[in-house]
Amino acid sequence: MKCDICGNTNTYIKDHKHNYKRGNIKYSFISKRRFCSNCNNLVYDAELDNEASKKAISTYTEIVGINPIEIIKLRKSYNLTQEQFAKIIGCAKKTLISYEQGKSIPNDIYI
Ligand SMILES: [Zn+2]
Repeated sequence: MKCDICGNTNTYIKDHKHNYKRGNIKYSFISKRRFCSNCNNLVYDAELDNEASKKAISTYTEIVGINPIEIIKLRKSYNLTQEQFAKIIGCAKKTLISYEQGKSIPNDIYI
């Protein structure tokens, strides 16, 4: 692992508090992330970053009370294709697909 900012290869892992805001909903969670031991910048670590985004999604769906399965159910109850449903809720088809697969939360802002 190498720091993008200073090029240092010494890194460490620590608990990091993530604060997200989506619309009026603010939420936070703690997950392990990798940092540069020289400049303390966040260093990309595929495994830890993946864990963090999974945690972000599960935290958000717990708060809002929706989950990808319910989105798919809702869409199918109206017999809509992903394309049609995306148009109705006002997002891109790609976004809807990643949301249905639980891969992302559309429009989240990383603070
Ligand atoms: Zn650095």
